[in-house]
Amino acid sequence: MTEITDISRVKSAELYEKAKTYFPGGVNSPVRAFRSVYGTPLFIQKGDGSHIWDADGNEFVDFCGSWGPLILGHNHPAVREKVISVMQNGMSFGAPTALENELAELILSNNKFIEKIRFVSSGTEAVMSAIRLARGYTKRDKILKFEGCYHGHVDALLVKAGSGLVTFGETSSAGVPKSFADETIVIALNDKDALQKAFAEFKDQIAAVIIEPIPANNGLLLQEGGFLQFLREQCTANDTLLIFDEVISGFRVGFEGAAGVFGIQPDIITYGKIIGGGMPVGAYGASATIMSNVSPQGPVYQAGTLSGNPVAMGAGIAQLTELLKENFYQDLETKTTAFVSAIQQYVADKGYEFKIFQIGSIFWFAFTGQDHIRRADEIDANSMSHFKIFHRELLNRGIYLGPSGYEVGFVSAVHTADDMEKAKLAIFDSLDVVY
Ligand code: PLP
Repeated sequence: MTEITDISRVKSAELYEKAKTYFPGGVNSPVRAFRSVYGTPLFIQKGDGSHIWDADGNEFVDFCGSWGPLILGHNHPAVREKVISVMQNGMSFGAPTALENELAELILSNNKFIEKIRFVSSGTEAVMSAIRLARGYTKRDKILKFEGCYHGHVDALLVKAGSGLVTFGETSSAGVPKSFADETIVIALNDKDALQKAFAEFKDQIAAVIIEPIPANNGLLLQEGGFLQFLREQCTANDTLLIFDEVISGFRVGFEGAAGVFGIQPDIITYGKIIGGGMPVGAYGASATIMSNVSPQGPVYQAGTLSGNPVAMGAGIAQLTELLKENFYQDLETKTTAFVSAIQQYVADKGYEFKIFQIGSIFWFAFTGQDHIRRADEIDANSMSHFKIFHRELLNRGIYLGPSGYEVGFVSAVHTADDMEKAKLAIFDSLDVVY
């Protein structure tokens, strides 16, 4: 193994010093601050295909993909050209455009799990609106979530959440009124008994259960076969709505997301990330009956100045059109599985206590000897010190992962065989340094 020196971060450091004078912690979203990994946050200058370049000119193969939206990689020609062509006619009207119809048609005619949809501008907004809809529809107040699932920075859901909160070691946020948090029941993932107990204790009070059907914000916590089906049955039996938060899994593990992969019909589904082709878009959808409660058709109010923004709709249309091409998801999964298998083989040969959990093109590096990790409390917090070394070594070898050991990685359609080979060898070397 060759000795590697640290990449230069001189320009990134200068930009970060400036940024700290403008923004709390120097960033506009917490995990970007590199708090739990080594060194100055990298300021990104450009992206093209599967590669990104930082302000110091360092080039990386990118497995973060803007935290998931970029399933076609950076600056994809179809998306770029559509965005530019839409922009020729103006960027926002605050009035309906045909582009909203076009994106909705593309989604609804290829997704049997929702009949109507509402576009918003982020995953957080989608979830916030879905919760309000569930409460308005059921006329109940409580919601149940799972420890480690992250559903955006909605007050009532910043309780025992993953993502940036777990990265910083504090899983609930200050500033959430106790009375709000009291409406949120939190139980462990994959725990049928706890679910039944909660339904018994809060009988006729739970409006909705919200879950990431593929929990991917506290590591990748793949649930035991049968758990989601059990959850579906319990929700039905208790007249509680089941919300699948598919902000990550939607359009990622298949065009119909986790609902399609597992064949489970939730009552409401939330989307974000991929649906906007890299632009700020979120959405929630459900049956026509449930959606008829949304304003102005029904009493549940929800609105947005930039909702259904034409440029964002254009990016979504272009990206989702590509995803519908034959074998798109199959090819992506085959590529990811080959990558994961080669690393698992290397690790097995070396006897390292390390696993990669994978579903479709989502993967998570876990510094563990366990065969399965299904709950947030099964992760050894000490494993994050391994991730810190691993992350630094990978950056030094030209591989970019999101700067947190609790976050997953994503393979895009434009990662080439060379990219995957380079990443694989870099991972071998970096693991040798860690262990
Ligand atoms: N839900 C899930 C499952 C997410 O992973 C995220 C963000 O990572 C959100 C909701 C919030 O989405 P956004 O960051 O677009 O507000």
